[in-house]
Amino acid sequence: MIKVFEDFDIALVGHYQSVLENNNIPTFMKNQFGTSGAGELPFVEVIPQLWVLNEADEARAKELIGELDAPDKLEPLREWKCASCGTPQEAAFTHCWKCSAARPSFNDQLS
Ligand SMILES: [Zn+2]
Repeated sequence: MIKVFEDFDIALVGHYQSVLENNNIPTFMKNQFGTSGAGELPFVEVIPQLWVLNEADEARAKELIGELDAPDKLEPLREWKCASCGTPQEAAFTHCWKCSAARPSFNDQLS
């Protein structure tokens, strides 16, 4: 497997994963629950990572991610509104500060 992307923003990593899967590139996400194992490098291990299963897909995957990484195409840190209680949220929040509902995924926001 080849690691093609990693970011503390789990929503962003998940978004890239869905894009690669939509392009028929098998992927695997590590640390998607943000939990640290008993490893020696917990700081590294808790970063959600996106891997491609086949080395042959590496170049294509990085190309797709590179396109998505353009700031004018994706704004991962934008303010959002809680779908559950309607409270406006700071961009950095991943959960509603009022009712703890999770931030909608990018796919949900786009649809
Ligand atoms: Zn809420």
